[in-house]
Amino acid sequence: MIALHSPQIVQETVLRWKKDGKKVAFVPTMGALHAGHLALVEAAKSLAPKVIVSIFVNPLQFAQGEDLSKYPRTLEADSDLLEKLDVDVLFAPSEKEFYAEDFVTQVRVGKLTEHLCGKFRPGHFEGVATVCLKLFQITQADFAIFGEKDFQQLRVISQMTSDLNLPLSVVPYPTVREADGLARSSRNVYLSAEERALAARIPQATKAANDAYRAHPSANVGSVLAAAAAALETPGIRIEYLEVASEKDLVPCDKALAMRDIFLPRLFLAARIGHTRLIDNTALDLRIEIA
Ligand code: AMP
Repeated sequence: MIALHSPQIVQETVLRWKKDGKKVAFVPTMGALHAGHLALVEAAKSLAPKVIVSIFVNPLQFAQGEDLSKYPRTLEADSDLLEKLDVDVLFAPSEKEFYAEDFVTQVRVGKLTEHLCGKFRPGHFEGVATVCLKLFQITQADFAIFGEKDFQQLRVISQMTSDLNLPLSVVPYPTVREADGLARSSRNVYLSAEERALAARIPQATKAANDAYRAHPSANVGSVLAAAAAALETPGIRIEYLEVASEKDLVPCDKALAMRDIFLPRLFLAARIGHTRLIDNTALDLRIEIA
């Protein structure tokens, strides 16, 4: 593995690979790598002979007052993990190397960013779309792998890729979870032992929603949400949003709407435990058994 900091050198390296006809799979991350990230890297390895992983805590996607300055940074340990996985290039630019002083471009993916996290994190998805478009240009990736854990992000990047005819495939990867079902996240390290115990309620809530739907396939959105809320509502957890939306448009559905009438319904939630904001989502599907 080689660690590169300069966007230009990454571009030159990839150009040489491409001359040899090699395809490139790319995994963008903000580092503090965990089993979820590593699963994405393994998927990348199965897709293409060359793999690039980026580690960049992108200031554009953090609003004022969010956790940019205290976001966990563990570059040395991350680099060791990626070396073991035999990644070809680790791209870890500094902020200065990545964004020129006169950088002003912003990419905005409309509609899909209006609700769910987009409503509570102003400017977040503009920052995400902008950094990803720039990273795709630098890495010239044929495949980019994104986790379903950040489902709205995955949809936004897929939409941007399609809208702008970007020559790459966005590949989704299922959420990797802890033994009790909590989605792996770099932000889990912020949780105290007590908060971590409370966080187990999040996967319990998504399971309760699925159980409610499976028990009553004629259920409406309100009753599915009530089942999730009952599992989640406890002192110490503040629900930011809890919604059912179609995967297609990510617009929260009316509580009176029958679940059956929603195309690919999915439960989305964000909750704060102490100072930590956690998100999760799950497909609401009558066909699959939820573990
Ligand atoms: P991040 O470093 O949090 O920006 O995440 C980088 C990539 O890893 C994104 O595509 C995330 O969706 C994905 N990711 C983060 N956590 C998980 C997880 N628990 N399971 C699968 N993918 C994940």
